[in-house]
Amino acid sequence: DSILTTKNLTKRYGRDENAVVALDHCSLTIPEGGKIAIVGESGSGKSTLLHLLGALDIPTEGEVFFRGQSIYTMKDQALSAFRRQNIGFVFQSYNLVPELTAKENIMLPLLIDGRDVDGEYFEHVVEVLGLHSRLGHLPGQMSGGQQQRTAIARAVMNKPPILLCDEPTGNLDSKTSAEVIALLLEVTQDFHMTLILVTHDRKLADKMEAVITIQDGRIGGGLS
Ligand code: ADP
Ligand code: ADP
Repeated sequence: DSILTTKNLTKRYGRDENAVVALDHCSLTIPEGGKIAIVGESGSGKSTLLHLLGALDIPTEGEVFFRGQSIYTMKDQALSAFRRQNIGFVFQSYNLVPELTAKENIMLPLLIDGRDVDGEYFEHVVEVLGLHSRLGHLPGQMSGGQQQRTAIARAVMNKPPILLCDEPTGNLDSKTSAEVIALLLEVTQDFHMTLILVTHDRKLADKMEAVITIQDGRIGGGLS
């Protein structure tokens, strides 16, 4: 079964003759529990596609379906509730709060939502990501890889069925990048999440189950 489907998904920035077509009638299906890479050159539309899959933006045309339901028919409030409940995000820039420890950063989304922390789940995630000895550290006291592992823990803390990652290893060296990709695969496998990872690095993409290529806003090759 598919968890996300897009139909003729299109995003134009600007109007008329100045419009940039970032995404051009893109139709694809992401299977439940899939581990998918979206690969393409800089400017090909990867981030735009990821943001639309994660309800961070509004398409110009076309639709995104989550388990069969068209998400962009929801009103703003319902859409952000949908996003908080179902989507975890990991960005290239980690986006950790510098004044908070790793543990506080990981807990922050749950605290903001007033949700309880599942202690057993927290321990399990921290263990898989190898963060035990870093929980009391501030982001500035951690390496890039450790900061990104902290951001991954934060992104999965409310158990979203979908984890979206936008160039998560863009600031990391190749050895650390490979480790982070392996951990992303392990965490999402352990907790039955769908993983969608955007990268311009074909070698990293090939570590996933399937690769979707994108060029000039168009899907090419489909699942391979
Ligand atoms: P990628 O993630 O593959 O680098 P993007 O989705 O960021 O590609 O961008 C796709 C195209 O859309 C590019 O031509 C980019 O310049 C353009 N674009 C992205 N965001 C905006 C924006 N906010 N305003 C105008 N053009 C944009
Ligand atoms: P950068 O490209 O500077 O590294 P990011 O990858 O962190 O930026 O973020 C990419 C885009 O996603 C930005 O346009 C940002 O506004 C948006 N974004 C980042 N985090 C969130 C969030 N938690 N909610 C909504 N939008 C976000």
